[in-house]
Amino acid sequence: MNKQTINELNKRASRELEKLLDLDKLREWKRQYLGKKGLITQLIKQLPGITDNKRPEIGRQINQIKNDLKKAYDRKMSNLQNQPPKTHRQEPNNWFDLTAPGEKTNLGHLHPITQMRQYAEDIFTRMGFEIFEAREVDDDYHNFESLNMPPQHPARDIWDTFWTNQGLVLITHTSSMQNRILSTKEPPLRAVIVGRCFRNEATDARHEHTLHQIEGLLVDRGITLRHLIGVFKAFLDEFYQRDVSIKIQPSYFPFVEPGIEFLIDCTICRGKGTMNKKQCSTCGGSGWIELAGAGMIHPKVLKEAGIDPQKYSGFAWGFGLDRLVMMKYGIEDIRHFHSGDLRFIRQF
Ligand SMILES: [Zn+2]
Repeated sequence: MNKQTINELNKRASRELEKLLDLDKLREWKRQYLGKKGLITQLIKQLPGITDNKRPEIGRQINQIKNDLKKAYDRKMSNLQNQPPKTHRQEPNNWFDLTAPGEKTNLGHLHPITQMRQYAEDIFTRMGFEIFEAREVDDDYHNFESLNMPPQHPARDIWDTFWTNQGLVLITHTSSMQNRILSTKEPPLRAVIVGRCFRNEATDARHEHTLHQIEGLLVDRGITLRHLIGVFKAFLDEFYQRDVSIKIQPSYFPFVEPGIEFLIDCTICRGKGTMNKKQCSTCGGSGWIELAGAGMIHPKVLKEAGIDPQKYSGFAWGFGLDRLVMMKYGIEDIRHFHSGDLRFIRQF
């Protein structure tokens, strides 16, 4: 060990320290030179081996270098720690590749219910129907009383209804708009009402608290059930883009007489009742799905709206859009629609 080798070690350590740009490498440098087994420390350990009178001088020199390197290390450490994060502008080779592909933006799209609602509205518009939107909160008169359900009428119990503290109703059906339309439009009239309806009931794969309904109204002279069946089948054939089989069974709704229910052949099993030799879970094996309630508008409902039932007759239907969309796409659980699950939404 002599003065020259010590100086060279000092220069090398200083040069390397100068070039360091990150904290990990800086700590590594400290271990290499100033650590317990570092090169400077090793020099100090060798001091007792120097027997001639140069030992004190070399000792001072090494100590001086050690202290200087330690200070330089501390300065570097504080510089690196306070340095702002590197940005693109600080890169020495600052150039911009105009041809590089950009980051893809996810644009999103309409909810499947909204898409199908617009699709259905489009079909009905082409058939000459005017589209109306239902109020989501309405009064007792429009949701019940004007539809042949005076207070205490037992048919009110068909629906589990949400009431507000002010005595208003979260509509149970879009028929809540019937009286408004019938009393303001002159027959002949064709109207389709769309809106969200609410049921105060437990949810499962087939039932939701919120559902989308599409209702139709047609009033003119000489209208019969045959017109209702013809119009409804024409819509279904167009909606499902196939020749849909329909079945009709009697039913009861206080605002129609007679009341019927439309069933269509199950679109999942194509009316066979079985899928892959198992019972079809969508139609329960019957091959038929209940789709809509309908009937001839009750004379009392027409009269309440100022239309003479002796001169005019009409039909009305109401169906759940959710059920229709489930059948179109083979969706097995109605709760998917309001789940907000993007894995579901992105399939449409
Ligand atoms: Zn089926």
